[in-house]
Amino acid sequence: MLGGRKGILFVISGPSGVGKGTLKDRLLARQEGIEYSISATTRPMRDGEINGVHYFFLAKPEFERMIASGDFLEWAVVYDNYYGTPRRFVLDNLNQGKDVLLEIDIQGARQIRERYPEGVFIFIAPPSLTELAKRLELRGKDSPEVIRQRLSHYDEEMAEIVNYDYAVINDDLEYTTLKLSAIITAERCKVVRFIRRDEIGTAFDQQTDEGK
Ligand code: 5GP
Repeated sequence: MLGGRKGILFVISGPSGVGKGTLKDRLLARQEGIEYSISATTRPMRDGEINGVHYFFLAKPEFERMIASGDFLEWAVVYDNYYGTPRRFVLDNLNQGKDVLLEIDIQGARQIRERYPEGVFIFIAPPSLTELAKRLELRGKDSPEVIRQRLSHYDEEMAEIVNYDYAVINDDLEYTTLKLSAIITAERCKVVRFIRRDEIGTAFDQQTDEGK
């Protein structure tokens, strides 16, 4: 039936340092009606971060208890810390017809794709390896050793691109945000989001009848 629909799960992923976090913030500021799923992590809180806003900061035993209870839709170890997407929040929102956004690493996106292939998977790519290296250095969050470790995964991570629905090169922040926003809008307009293909005729008949 036209009208009611299940929410759409949007997954933004890509190599570390590509600007996923910044893009996510910009996208949320401009796109209405999308719920961001706050991840849980065991990494230490950074300056300016707030528990329950940027992440749910958990101790390792608590995170492991949640893994054992099946509380995560996906989880992964990213640079020696656990990160995971709380299951309940995502499923509840999708069932209520609300769209949900995840900003997660490539391992996590792979798990979501296996369990929830109807999601929309968006790969954010850097313009080049050199540019990625420059950004990691400029943001100054990581030591040279950590940066080297992150860059060493570049080829492997880029090879994942073929498993995504969309690839967006983050060469210009404003234009990239616009592209992401356009993807969300277009996905929401897909006929298949409203009705199943075999129901199309019926749904349009009903709509015409209602319009009389
Ligand atoms: P940061 O610690 O810099 O905020 O994030 C490090 C990496 O962890 C980023 O690539 C980010 O996308 C990823 N990440 C954040 N939350 C999750 C999550 O819930 N699951 C997975 N698999 N990765 C996440």
